[in-house]
Amino acid sequence: MSKLNTLRDLLVHELSDIYSAEEQILEALPKMIKAAGADKLRAAFEDHLEVTKKHVKRLDKCFSELGAKPSGETCAAMKGLITETGKLLKEKDSANPHVFDAALAGAAQRVEHYEMAAYGCARSFCDTLGEEKVGKLLQETLYEEGESNKLLSILAISELNPAAHSKRKSASATSGS
Ligand code: FE
Ligand code: FE
Repeated sequence: MSKLNTLRDLLVHELSDIYSAEEQILEALPKMIKAAGADKLRAAFEDHLEVTKKHVKRLDKCFSELGAKPSGETCAAMKGLITETGKLLKEKDSANPHVFDAALAGAAQRVEHYEMAAYGCARSFCDTLGEEKVGKLLQETLYEEGESNKLLSILAISELNPAAHSKRKSASATSGS
């Protein structure tokens, strides 16, 4: 970690962390798309993959606006979340497909919450620093992360969790897998 002498240093540090996090998510999402059984869950992940590409581009804009570069450090927290998701993916074959989908949605929500916290903090640094342009870009992404989290919540509560709780074992008819 480079020295944190100023709030601006901290902003660049946070953005570097988020940059690494987004890149890791870009790598993980295709595997989650492949593993999702429910069509709506798969569609949510597919949408979020496109949205995530936008997030990386926005971060590139933020760095160029600040005249800075990502540090290249790995976001260890996201690495941990994705390692956990990877472990879950290995359970797919032995798990009940509906329970697996509920778990996968939960794993994705953990990722969204991490991103929401990170973007929220970075945005608030921009407010204090008077970095309006960067703050606006971060706010757009923060909004999209929030929307994606909300969508997953609604999907889980209305469909995935009840399906996981139902006694039906044969999921192939509804999961499309
Ligand atoms: Fe993102
Ligand atoms: Fe996200």
